[in-house]
Amino acid sequence: MNDIMKFDNELSIEKSRSGKRGIRFNCPSCETNIPNNFTRKSEPKLPELSEFDTVRHFTRLSKFNFSVDTHFYPLGSCTMKYNPRINEETSSFEGFTSLHPLSLDENAQGTLEIIYDAQNRLCELCGMDDATLWPVAGAHGEYTGILIAKKYFSVKGEGRDEIIVPDSAHGTNPATASMAGFKTVNIQSSPDGRLDLDVLKKNLTPRTAVIMLTVPNTLGIFEKNIKKICELAHANGSLVYMDGANLNALIGLVKPGDFGIDIMHLNMHKTFSTPHGGGGPGAGGILVKRILSPHLPKPRVEKKEGKYFLNENVPLSIGRIKAYLCNTQVLLRAYAYILNHGPEEFKSIAENAILNANYIKASLEKLYPSYSKEYCMHECVLTPSKELQEKGIKTLDIAKRLLDYGFHAPTVYFPLIVHEAIMIEPTETESKETLDSFISTMTKIHSEAMENPEMLKQAPHTMPVKRLDEVLAARQPNIKW
Ligand SMILES: *Cc1c(COP(=O)(O)O)cnc(C)c1O
Repeated sequence: MNDIMKFDNELSIEKSRSGKRGIRFNCPSCETNIPNNFTRKSEPKLPELSEFDTVRHFTRLSKFNFSVDTHFYPLGSCTMKYNPRINEETSSFEGFTSLHPLSLDENAQGTLEIIYDAQNRLCELCGMDDATLWPVAGAHGEYTGILIAKKYFSVKGEGRDEIIVPDSAHGTNPATASMAGFKTVNIQSSPDGRLDLDVLKKNLTPRTAVIMLTVPNTLGIFEKNIKKICELAHANGSLVYMDGANLNALIGLVKPGDFGIDIMHLNMHKTFSTPHGGGGPGAGGILVKRILSPHLPKPRVEKKEGKYFLNENVPLSIGRIKAYLCNTQVLLRAYAYILNHGPEEFKSIAENAILNANYIKASLEKLYPSYSKEYCMHECVLTPSKELQEKGIKTLDIAKRLLDYGFHAPTVYFPLIVHEAIMIEPTETESKETLDSFISTMTKIHSEAMENPEMLKQAPHTMPVKRLDEVLAARQPNIKW
């Protein structure tokens, strides 16, 4: 652990000393030009620090970061993988970064061409017909997709108002269904973690607008019956939505369009490698089958006589979902990544994502039993063994102890249907050495827990902030001021 983390947890406001300054503005006219009713009546409560104090404070804080560039980051469902530097380079070309959001189409040809071409390439990769890259997050993509389904049924004059969501779906799925004004019909998975076809049939009614599936689901399992599910949905006049946020498990191996998916979203920032986390920025493009094209959000990026343009004249569109262009910087990174990989390489990305997750699962299964006995896809869901649970060891204790060993904690207590879940997504970019070191640390934590459970319950021991009272922290957050 870095020595720098062992001392000095003072906030900048605590370091403040009256009269210290980084820069002094010598501009009397600045003050006199501001109308009186807009000037402050009292000094702002800002930390008073020298420039050097400020630099040191923030540089030190920046070193507290756990990031995928510094540590193994096996956060389930988040795909914290290596982001190739070539993406950063290309997305920062001045021609892109200095594009004005209100540029005329003729001055934005390069950016429009990339959006247009990226849409086509993504459709090809996924076996879909049309796309929009406007959504700025996975959840935003879901919401856009479900609004498209809603519009489709309303144009057809059908008042379908229910969306079926299995309990193994990502949490954003039921949230999206409700936000879009649908009633969520939650159905229970079968013991193997898949959708139970009989339960599905019972819940499929003339009111069912959409079946929303996370593929692979949050247990890291592929829906073997996906084709059958799509057939059942279509025979019922319903659509199938696929949450494809974790496409790194499938890319190059299968095309969702081929098994009958009508709408899906992608998480550019996960599968197509953009640094993310901490809330943004992202891009959650959606892909649809031809029947849904007319409802895609506007403007549409189109091409006529060799020129790209934004078409605002889309009468059946759900309308605008984002001001100006999309999160172009994220799309540029994703585009660089797509161009950098041929179909065979995409296939090996998925194979390595699956191999790495299964390597961890198989190596740790004895000490941390897996929810499912089958092979997993890109992530596995483990739990503390019975002997650990008898010692009163919780998933949280294991996650906290991992911090002491320099690993980011996996996703914990999710999916909700697994008691004490530890959800590990190693991603395709980690080496065998890193996986082995994680496996041996998890093994060591298991022995520590057996020998000295109380020590584990106090972990982390080396972090600047030790074990928090999580309930108190949530109810009465101490954010100083
Ligand atoms: C990450 C994720 C989402 C949400 O994506 P955001 O970009 O965070 O909104 C939705 N579904 C699944 C399966 C995910 O892994």
